[in-house]
Amino acid sequence: MQSLSRLARRPLLSSSIPAAGRITALSSHFSNSSLAMAPISKETDFLVIGGGSGGLGAARAASARYGAKAMVIEAARLGGTCVNVGCVPKKVTFNAAAIAETIHQAKSYGFNVQETAPFDWSTFKKKRDAYILRLNGIYERNLGNDNVEYVHGWAKVLSRNSVEVTLDDGSKTVVNAKKILIAVGGHPTVPPQIPGAEFGVNSDGFFDIDTLPKKVALVGAGYIAVEFAGMFNALGVETHLFIRYDHFLRHFDPMIQEGVTNEYERLGVKLHKRSATTRVDKDPATGKLTIHYKEGDSEGVLSDVDHLIWAVGRTPATAGLGLESAGVTVNEKGYVAVDGFQNTNVDNIYALGDVTGQVELTPVAIAAGRKLAARLYGPEQFRTAKLDYGNIPSVVFAHPEVGSIGLTEPEAVAKYGRENLTIYKTNFTAMYYAMMDPEQKGPTAYKLICAGPEEKVVGLHIMGLGSGEMLQGFGVAVKMGATKADFDSCVAIHPTSAEELVTLR
Ligand SMILES: Cc1cc2nc3c(=O)[nH]c(=O)nc-3n(C[C@H](O)[C@H](O)[C@H](O)COP(=O)(O)OP(=O)(O)OC[C@H]3O[C@@H](n4cnc5c(N)ncnc54)[C@H](O)[C@@H]3O)c2cc1C
Repeated sequence: MQSLSRLARRPLLSSSIPAAGRITALSSHFSNSSLAMAPISKETDFLVIGGGSGGLGAARAASARYGAKAMVIEAARLGGTCVNVGCVPKKVTFNAAAIAETIHQAKSYGFNVQETAPFDWSTFKKKRDAYILRLNGIYERNLGNDNVEYVHGWAKVLSRNSVEVTLDDGSKTVVNAKKILIAVGGHPTVPPQIPGAEFGVNSDGFFDIDTLPKKVALVGAGYIAVEFAGMFNALGVETHLFIRYDHFLRHFDPMIQEGVTNEYERLGVKLHKRSATTRVDKDPATGKLTIHYKEGDSEGVLSDVDHLIWAVGRTPATAGLGLESAGVTVNEKGYVAVDGFQNTNVDNIYALGDVTGQVELTPVAIAAGRKLAARLYGPEQFRTAKLDYGNIPSVVFAHPEVGSIGLTEPEAVAKYGRENLTIYKTNFTAMYYAMMDPEQKGPTAYKLICAGPEEKVVGLHIMGLGSGEMLQGFGVAVKMGATKADFDSCVAIHPTSAEELVTLR
């Protein structure tokens, strides 16, 4: 550990500064400090740049399981995107939104619940921040327990075997490494160049909001925009979502795209379809935003907006990393190019996680990291270890939750031909809603895509209460190559929604 008081001193990064600049800003923040620094090793076996999901997974496995001398260099906060500005604080906020929904539904079950004050976002945020800070500490202790050297600083590749680290006090040191792992993740894509775009924040900024807003606008059709919009709406915030086409979640099966888009409209999210924002103004006195936009052929103005959140994609964090010094190739989209073993084009430099643009999810980065550590430092039987990127389950914490594994229907048609597919579908009202008025009832829809005469399940798409938890188990079955007959041979659990997946006709 390089500094005892580092955790307490580490600031939350401003979400309005582009990521590369943010980390530079962080370094300069520390440049005048007089933190006592333990000497940093000048040589290591395995130098990992980035203390996020993938980097930590790889370094800890390399050291604790296989005895390699490993070092992690992290410029911001340990845990990376997932822990600090991604999965974890997002899911905690989703839980708050789910409780809000339950409170509203409780009356239907005979409870007399009266809300005497609005949701206390400020207290909630403080507790959520404290939880994340605790996790940062746990991650740091885990590195210590696993004998991984942790250095807080900005890493820059100098050559295929050396990395320059700018430490918190501004000093620079060079570390020689036998192997280098690039696990620097990504950052929110800079919003479109329209006047006033800078008055909005990116997805990192969502986690800085410290009072309950009255009105928000989000731009984006991916899972981050959809999740944030659903949470705001459930917490009683007037929520506007600007999307470029008629549906969002456009990488998901059409059943999910249409089902969730329709449900958001029904729940009161103000969807601006086929829209593009053209200008943003900020009232200097109130701080409120006015958003000018085109929607189809007409033009519109949305005023009194507390926050505008750009969620228009993510960009690999390779700027200023020095990859060119070592000759590491990036692809046309800027992601570090890797083969199936996470090898870059340079011997002994590897990359994984979001910076490779493969499947941008935390468990994917962790699994790829552990496989790589096993292959590089594990016993002989792991020499060909690599992550299988097929059939990775993914969930959207939308309203309702979405789960998906395998091919969408259009993908399956393209791969197998329509004539070789059997598609089973159902939609119904979950029993949870039995006691509720019609307007309180949410949709449930499931689809199973089966290929060939043996009806192998090649796609499974679910939408409805509890889909996130349900998918993991069904994911095992799909990963094992289950057929429709295997699904049918499993006796149903009654009364659940999940039983519908093993009784599809
Ligand atoms: C809002 C949001 C919600 C999400 N929700 C989910 C979810 O529910 N489930 C899920 O599975 N995934 C989710 N994700 C995606 C998930 O967070 C990422 O896939 C995952 O964090 C990628 O891990 P990584 O190790 O590749 O990169 P990261 O976790 O981003 O870690 C990279 C680290 O490298 C550091 N770094 C960068 N450059 C340098 C440098 N030069 N020197 C030193 N350090 C450097 C960064 O500070 C960062 O800490 C979400 C992401 C976002 C933004």
